Amino acid sequence: MGRLALVTGGTRGIGRAISTSLKSAGYRVVANYGGNDDAARTFTAETGIPAVKWDISDFAATDAALKAISAEHGPIDIVINNAGITRDAPLHKMSPEMWNDVIRINLTSCFNTARLVIDSMRERGFGRIVNIGSINGQAGQYGQANYAASKSGIHGFTKALAQEGAARGVTVNAIAPGYVDTDMVRSVPAPVLEKIVARIPAGRLGRAEDIARAVMFLVSDDADFITGSTISVNGGQHM
Ligand code: NAD
Repeated sequence: MGRLALVTGGTRGIGRAISTSLKSAGYRVVANYGGNDDAARTFTAETGIPAVKWDISDFAATDAALKAISAEHGPIDIVINNAGITRDAPLHKMSPEMWNDVIRINLTSCFNTARLVIDSMRERGFGRIVNIGSINGQAGQYGQANYAASKSGIHGFTKALAQEGAARGVTVNAIAPGYVDTDMVRSVPAPVLEKIVARIPAGRLGRAEDIARAVMFLVSDDADFITGSTISVNGGQHM
């Protein structure tokens, strides 16, 4: 039986590419989502991957969901912490809600899943946790103090947790995507997006599959001595 992977925010965008790549490679996959039920049903019909709705930033809800998933499918071997949001504004216009929502959904969610799987992974001597960070967590971005802090936090969380899992076969890594062509980036105004693409040495936005391929490597046995690393997947845009 293939290893069991949970992909948070796994029904669309980068998460969808990760879920379907894992399934194609023989992993068993469960996708979490937080939004549209019709879209999630279509995703399951198209991919054969079960989709389970809960708010990943809520520890108790995540605990209940992970218990139900494990009861049905067995222990979780792989967690891809992909769910994320933006709520952009310069700081002088950023409300406490905008700050808290982004930190909760992007960063606290990584604590929630990792905290709930770490004991089982350490006991079984195998685990893979891949956290999706961001170029904007490495370099910062105007209007994204909340988002940059959450993603920078993910990169630090990754390094710290890697040290706790390394001797027990649990690797923890991050990927820092550059700008990727998904709904998140399509909401950027066209003139701003043109300027962004002009700064990407590869001359194009990333594709969700570019990120999924890096995830596939990190979860594979080929990567079992790689932990605490952040892999930048950004077409050469090292800001
Ligand atoms: P997206 O908006 O298409 O997908 C985000 C996913 O997160 C959705 O499936 C959504 O349902 C889920 N989600 C949001 N809030 C949730 C919650 N409370 N509980 C459960 N699920 C929730 O975005 P995307 O571009 O595919 O982004 C995926 C990840 O990649 C995010 O973490 C994002 O920050 C990161 N990222 C994206 C880019 C980019 O350019 N698109 C660049 C760097 C990093």
